[in-house]
Amino acid sequence: MPGATIACVICNQPARAAPVFADFLHFDCTACGQFRASASFIEQAKDLPMDARRQALQNAVVRAQYGAMSVVTTYDVP
Ligand SMILES: [Zn+2]
Repeated sequence: MPGATIACVICNQPARAAPVFADFLHFDCTACGQFRASASFIEQAKDLPMDARRQALQNAVVRAQYGAMSVVTTYDVP
């Protein structure tokens, strides 16, 4: 996958990330899998504890339809 190596927005481990659309980053993290996160969530995530970030990802996974990419937004923050 093209993109840069940055800290995963969920777990802070090195992950691959590439921009998709205007306001989303597609992450490919060995710990968290593949998901997309909105720019607003990424901004908010800096102030969230890791438990809340993991819960947000989990909420996005549950919300995604079968086979669809999980998209984490601020609505997923517990
Ligand atoms: Zn991760």
